[in-house]
Amino acid sequence: MPFAVGHLDADCFYVNAERVRYRDLDGKPVAVLGNQGACVIAKSYEMKRLGVKTGEPIWDARKKCPDGVYVKRDFRWYEVLSRGMLDVLTAFSPRVEYYSIDEFFFAVPAGDFRTTAEAIRDRVWETCRLPVTVGVGRTRTLAKLFAEAAKPFGALAVTHPDEEAAMLARLPVTEVSGIAGRRAARLAPYGIRTCLDFRRASGRLVRQLLTKTGEDLWAELNGSPAQPIRADRVPHQTVSRGGSLGGATGDPAVLWAWCVRNLERLIEELEFHDVRAGRLTVWLSHKGGPTGVGDVSFDCPTDRFDTLLDGCRDALRQAWVPGAAATHMHLIASKLGRSRFAARSLFERADDRAHRADVLKRQVNRRVGRFAVRSGATLPLKAVYDDPSNGHDICDVRGKVCF
Ligand SMILES: [Mg+2]
Repeated sequence: MPFAVGHLDADCFYVNAERVRYRDLDGKPVAVLGNQGACVIAKSYEMKRLGVKTGEPIWDARKKCPDGVYVKRDFRWYEVLSRGMLDVLTAFSPRVEYYSIDEFFFAVPAGDFRTTAEAIRDRVWETCRLPVTVGVGRTRTLAKLFAEAAKPFGALAVTHPDEEAAMLARLPVTEVSGIAGRRAARLAPYGIRTCLDFRRASGRLVRQLLTKTGEDLWAELNGSPAQPIRADRVPHQTVSRGGSLGGATGDPAVLWAWCVRNLERLIEELEFHDVRAGRLTVWLSHKGGPTGVGDVSFDCPTDRFDTLLDGCRDALRQAWVPGAAATHMHLIASKLGRSRFAARSLFERADDRAHRADVLKRQVNRRVGRFAVRSGATLPLKAVYDDPSNGHDICDVRGKVCF
């Protein structure tokens, strides 16, 4: 077969990401705690063995594992490593889907799939010091199942139908992501308990019991891809960033600082979705008062910091209500254009120094972490940046539920 589907999943990602920078955590029971430091959001195998579960409050976990090391999560750092994994994958594959912060699907070019899976796993280990497991199969669902079965630090490629059947016979049907409690309970009366039972069931029965969603999973288990690798993300109508100002303020310098912070976050998002803004809106809500809205349009859609910053200044001026205290601010980019189709040189200002500084800022932040380099206009928000829990707003973490 010319192509197979690969699935890469980091093993105990948050824990091992901490071990990359704190080597003395190796071999110790480690838990990573959520936003408020109260719940376990990830745990090492050592801690799992002592019965600690994801979602458990720290006070219960400490009873089971008093000698454990409990670390607060740092998504800024995890995203740096996530990009490292993505870089390795793009060297091996022409099509990579960023499924979540620690999971990727990708096309595996023709060749010895097992060797490729091992090479990817080893390269991620060499370059990022992260243990990952790679599964290769004829479809996404099969690849994910095989990766799950090969954890930790595994590399498994199964593409022959007989070998697949032997693997699937050993896995309960609930291992298929998308088939949990209720769906599994509907299958049980028909004797469908393993993944192989599910694969051998009739498509019509599966559709009756689990609708089209279930039928797609059934097709995938039978080796017919029903879910493509989405290397191109769905184009968005708008992209926005913003939120609470952490208290009411009417101070123009503080409002400007928030505006610039939100712009830097917005640009990350534009870059991630590979789009540019044709229009920028600043939206301000005031305590017990009016909502201020301002917007600017660009002749040519842009993701440049200097151009958007000028736009922000105009839009914020329009949105600002003198004498009123603002509580929330949102920046909304609309009339989006795909980056690759935009002609950069025609309408945009030829201020190359500003553009070069912007590119450098993005490169440094990509390597070191978010906001490592940021605009001086954000100085009034020093306290916001100093608090590591603001390093990653929950809405900025893509594709993972966190608490
Ligand atoms: Mg994982």
